[in-house]
Amino acid sequence: MNEVDSASRDMIARVVAEVVRELSQRSPSATTGTTSGVGQWGVFETMDEAVTAAARGQREYMERSMAERRRYIDVIKAVATVPENLEYMARETVEQTGMGRVDDKIVKNRIAALGTPGVEDLVTTAWSGDDGLTTVEYSPFGVIGAITPTTNPTETVICNSIGMLAAGNSVVFSPHPRATKVTLWLIQELNKGLAEAGAPANLIVTVREPSIENTNAMMAHKQVRMLVATGGPGIVKTVLQSGKKAIGAGAGNPPVLVDATADIPKAARDIVAGASFDNNLPCTAEKEIIAVDAIADLLRFELVKAGAHEITDPGELQRLEELLMSEGRPRTEWIGKDATLILEAIGITPQPGTRLVVAEVDRDHPFVQHELMMPVIGLVRVPDVDAGIAFAIEIEKGLRHTAIMHSRDVTKLTRMGRLIQTTVFVKNGPSYAGLGIGGEGFTTFTIAGPTGEGLTSARSFARSRRCVMVGELNVR
Ligand code: NAD
Repeated sequence: MNEVDSASRDMIARVVAEVVRELSQRSPSATTGTTSGVGQWGVFETMDEAVTAAARGQREYMERSMAERRRYIDVIKAVATVPENLEYMARETVEQTGMGRVDDKIVKNRIAALGTPGVEDLVTTAWSGDDGLTTVEYSPFGVIGAITPTTNPTETVICNSIGMLAAGNSVVFSPHPRATKVTLWLIQELNKGLAEAGAPANLIVTVREPSIENTNAMMAHKQVRMLVATGGPGIVKTVLQSGKKAIGAGAGNPPVLVDATADIPKAARDIVAGASFDNNLPCTAEKEIIAVDAIADLLRFELVKAGAHEITDPGELQRLEELLMSEGRPRTEWIGKDATLILEAIGITPQPGTRLVVAEVDRDHPFVQHELMMPVIGLVRVPDVDAGIAFAIEIEKGLRHTAIMHSRDVTKLTRMGRLIQTTVFVKNGPSYAGLGIGGEGFTTFTIAGPTGEGLTSARSFARSRRCVMVGELNVR
């Protein structure tokens, strides 16, 4: 065979390989299932197939070096931050879930990819002395079952994949049914990238049709060694009752307290920015404002200047409440909707660019008592900062999730932080500073208040193991 023939043969082989790959993407049955163990880029028909494939992938993964792990994490970050992918995820999520803002979702997905720590999070501890050398290292659990919310569907897949794979695990995702299409798309893109980088197949898997039954099957599967639930109180309680090691990242109702010493115009700008970010979907977002009497009117004025629409008319407030609440609970169809849409629905034509609706209300008003996840926020007036701290603690309801305070009084900031005991406490910034957006520290979208891991990272998804060498290897 001459050189030209050999070159064309190579080209044909490449084309065939590409076509096979394309076909395998289009035809699930060709590559799905336990017989091939390949799935359709990580998407399987049944939960048992998905978990079995993830367990096999994880066993192979254990043979890979830390350098290879690092490379796979870089691939996840690279796939997630391709500009077209960021745009697609944001648009599709808003379209499929009917919630949130495209621009903000781009910011959230990018920071989830770039701000989540990888292998570097697994720092070894060592003791050396007369009795030898002891190390404590982080090892994987094996297969982790991760349940993701509608509010941050792709962000959670990105940050959980980075942290869980960095710690040497594989992960089976159980996405919210309302965000299935975009979540499955992301999982498939991550699998394609990982395959190109030579990673074991099926380190990140899911099922074609997520459902409560499939989530239950995942939680009960004997090869799933750890559960991580990011969602409301129901699913957190369920994983904690599973009998398995579980991390629960649950709901919050973050208060923002503004005292008389604060820079009021800046506090107002930060509150509008934080409370309207992705239409208030983040669990960390400001959910009610507590303002001390001395500055409450100035704060209201500055909030409007910063882009909020204030409702003062009792009739309008009544209509707003009837629109957004049903039997004392937030109506699902209005969660994560734009402030302009909400205002128009009660007959108000807002200024263009209005991002937040604010209304001064009583402390027992539903806009204060409930985690609305809408760009609508109640403002409660308190006589002084100590009364404000006391009310912030009451309204946070022991969830120990997130609180925000604007103040220049270090003693009162310290008092609030000590007493409220939230996992995230942001001082003098928008709530999202606590996620590493304009604040120091790494990023996560799984904030485990109930089980105490706090802002989760690779080490939260790892087992701590002690290795003891007696009498040797100490070289001091
Ligand atoms: P959700 O509780 O309705 O759903 C979360 C996930 O759990 C979904 O995948 C859902 O399908 C699953 N699920 C819910 N009930 C289930 C059941 N009985 N059996 C099996 N699976 C079940 O929450 P959501 O509306 O998607 O997300 C918003 C909630 O999540 C808010 O309360 C928010 O504060 C919280 N959240 C918390 C964090 C955090 O890090 N702490 C992050 C994001 C969202």
